[in-house]
Amino acid sequence: MYCKIFGHDYKVSRDVTSYVKEYSCNNCKKELTTNSKGDLIELTPKFKEINNMLEDIHNKRKLRF
Ligand SMILES: [Zn+2]
Repeated sequence: MYCKIFGHDYKVSRDVTSYVKEYSCNNCKKELTTNSKGDLIELTPKFKEINNMLEDIHNKRKLRF
């Protein structure tokens, strides 16, 4: 109800890479993520999977350098 009036209150819930992040709303827990084009989209299980892979690749790169 709050979100319908004031809009969602998104906070970054996870840094996947430097440019892909996951967001969740403080009030209704709705989740968003950044896609490859930099748009905010709904965080579906499919995208959660993609983000997990991205994070994996990202972390491996960090270790190498
Ligand atoms: Zn909300």
